[in-house]
Amino acid sequence: MNTLTEKQLAVLKEWMAQRKSRLMDEIREVLARSGNAHHAEQVGEVGSMGDEAAARLLRDISEAEVLRDIGEMRDITAAEQRIAGGRYGLCTDCAEPVGYERLKAYPSAKRCMPCQQHREKTRAPSQYTGR
Ligand SMILES: [Zn+2]
Repeated sequence: MNTLTEKQLAVLKEWMAQRKSRLMDEIREVLARSGNAHHAEQVGEVGSMGDEAAARLLRDISEAEVLRDIGEMRDITAAEQRIAGGRYGLCTDCAEPVGYERLKAYPSAKRCMPCQQHREKTRAPSQYTGR
């Protein structure tokens, strides 16, 4: 059962849409500055492209800042897909509600706090790629 109200969901959706357009601006700017402007348009698709296509594109980009922003954009796109599928706000591991407080701090969170902590404990720090 999802515990989010329509209003809470609207707030989170709005936040993610704004965050995404800010990330896009940032990515375009860094790519333009580093002479990779020709990648900028493709990067706009990176949230919705497959992992393989995204990996291919990212191989050409070496700016850590951009890679981090793209990772966040993909997280947000995945969250939007969960909203569309009606699974947003539910933990992907245990299916319990993630909780509005946690989502407010981190709207693209996939897992509830206990599952997240468990995952961080069981993964090597070098493989840690995000929440
Ligand atoms: Zn969980």
